[in-house]
Amino acid sequence: MGTKGREIVGTDVEQLVGQLNSALADEWLAYYQYWVGARVLKGPMRGALAAELTEHAGDELRHAEMLAGRIIQLGGAPLLSPQAWYEATGCGYDAPEDPAVRVVLAQNIAGEQCAIGAYQKLLDGLRGKDEVTFAMVAEILADEVEHEEDLQAFVEDLAMIG
Ligand code: FE
Ligand code: FE
Ligand code: MG
Repeated sequence: MGTKGREIVGTDVEQLVGQLNSALADEWLAYYQYWVGARVLKGPMRGALAAELTEHAGDELRHAEMLAGRIIQLGGAPLLSPQAWYEATGCGYDAPEDPAVRVVLAQNIAGEQCAIGAYQKLLDGLRGKDEVTFAMVAEILADEVEHEEDLQAFVEDLAMIG
């Protein structure tokens, strides 16, 4: 951990690490929800949607890596077990028990909307206090906004099939 880098953080570092760990839990759960959803999917446009979900899974894993890196920079520890993901998650996990494309899409859109709200809230608390974390979270938020739009475009396309 860099001492000067930590010193310039104008907010409670322990609390920030807790918030980043909650986001880390969300990202791992989102990663698996997309990853497994892409594999069990059934219905129209299955191939195209599976490719999109797989791409999003990769983005969520990258977000987890970004969050873990920042947690370590701040002198904290990333959550060390999958059990801890369930305890820390804000957005939860929605198992794709019904593999129908419309159902899986709705579950993942709800997840993205939760993530957008959570990251926006985090940004509101960081503005002017921790520019480094702020910039990283803003980058993640932009991806989640893109994810929501991608999935809602699939819903529109499916509606045109009838
Ligand atoms: Fe993400
Ligand atoms: Fe996302
Ligand atoms: Mg996409």
